[in-house]
Parts: sequence; structure tokens; C-alpha cells
Amino acid sequence: MVAIDSKDSLYVENLLPENDIFYKKLENFAKENRVPILDKIGRAYLIQLLNIKNARNVLEIGTAIAYSTISFCENVGCKVVTIERDIKMYEQAQKNIQERNLQDKIVAIYGDALELDSRVVNNAPYDVVFIDGAKSQSRKFFELYEPYFADNVLVITDNVLFKGMVADPSIIKHSRDLKQLSRKINNYNEWLMANPNYTSVILPFGDGIAITTRKVKK
Ligand code: SAH
Ligand code: MG
Repeated sequence: MVAIDSKDSLYVENLLPENDIFYKKLENFAKENRVPILDKIGRAYLIQLLNIKNARNVLEIGTAIAYSTISFCENVGCKVVTIERDIKMYEQAQKNIQERNLQDKIVAIYGDALELDSRVVNNAPYDVVFIDGAKSQSRKFFELYEPYFADNVLVITDNVLFKGMVADPSIIKHSRDLKQLSRKINNYNEWLMANPNYTSVILPFGDGIAITTRKVKK
């Protein structure tokens, strides 16, 4: 459940132009294999945001099947450095990147994003950082990659509302893991919103998206 009424979401989604067959294939694969890719409105919104920002160099934590990676690359024209720790996901991502012939624009790294990879360092700084890995680790990712943020960085953190479970953990029944996860996401959200060096807003659509910029003295 998300804050926007689902009828509104459906209405807005239906007005979006149809994605081409390649993206539909990835969406179907994600659905069948329960891969949590961006939803259609979230995808369209992030593409808009990256275009407004004129993003050139994006760092992504959590490639999955490269649905967001390829979407950004093809619709924004940016380069993307992306990290994935699950070998099956990584292989699927590689296949999809090759199918679109984007090997030159995407640096796909197989590894744990909690460990700094030299390719991430060598391709820095990043004008957009998309944090979409393990939801309990968002703060660790933020702090680990902070030295590689461009001065005018835009940080996007996905799934910060986690299907309504962060705002209202009482909807979680019989799962201590999910309860703990919702607490951790809440801790991240509170830390991010109170961070004196950044300004953030959490948007209650998709699965909750946090948009963060560096605070500048006015
Ligand atoms: N960005 C993708 C979805 C990513 S789903 C899209 O919107 O299309 C989250 C992915 O992050 C999963 O594939 C998971 O394996 C990966 N992940 C989680 N923790 C990670 C870590 N510490 N390092 C690298 N990948 C991680
Ligand atoms: Mg996500």
C-alpha cells in the first residue's frame, strides 16, 4: 500500500506511453521471478528527474536485472556504474546490457556494494547516486560512497516506505525480520531527514522515494 490512492496510481500509470517490448520483457521477468524493480511511475519520475538534472555519471547500488540501469542510460544518455552481489542477477543484467549494446555506457560490477571497488573510485565523482540495494544498509551505502559524490550530487534512495510497513509497522504480522527491517528503514529516514549537510524530501509514491541534495548556504 502506498499513500497515493491506488486508483490514482493506476490512472496515472495507464496514461504513460507503453514501454517497448524489451522493457516489457524485463518487467515480466521481474514479476515472474519476484525481482523488485522500479514501478512504472517511479521509473518515469526518475527519468524526468535525471533529465532535469542533466545527469552524466550515475552510481547505482543494486542492479538486479539492469531495468533501472538501462532505463536511465537509454532515456537520459548518462553513463551508469552499477553494483550487484547476486550472481544470477548479475548474469541476467549482463545479458540485458549486451542485448541493448550498452557495454560502453554501463560498468556492471559483480560484488558486495559494502566493499569499495576500484572501478567505483576510478569513475567518480557521481552527479546522481541511486541507492537501491539491501534496504537495511542504505545508511552504510550513503556513508561509504559519500566521498565520491559530486559537489552538486543528487542522491535517490528507493523503497524508503517499504509497502506501508515503515509508517505503520502494526500491519506486519508474525515476522520479526520485517519488523526489524521497517525499524531500520525508519532509522535511515530519520537520519537522512535530520542530516545537517543535506536537504531531503520523501515522496510517498512508488515504494517511497527519498530525494536528497547537498545543503548550500544561501
Ligand atoms: N535497481 C533495480 C532493482 C534493484 S533490487 C531496478 O529498479 O531495476 C535490489 C538489488 O540489490 C538485488 O538484486 C540485490 O541482490 C542487490 N543488493 C542488495 N544488497 C546488495 C549489496 N550489498 N551489494 C550489491 N548488491 C546488493
Ligand atoms: Mg527499489
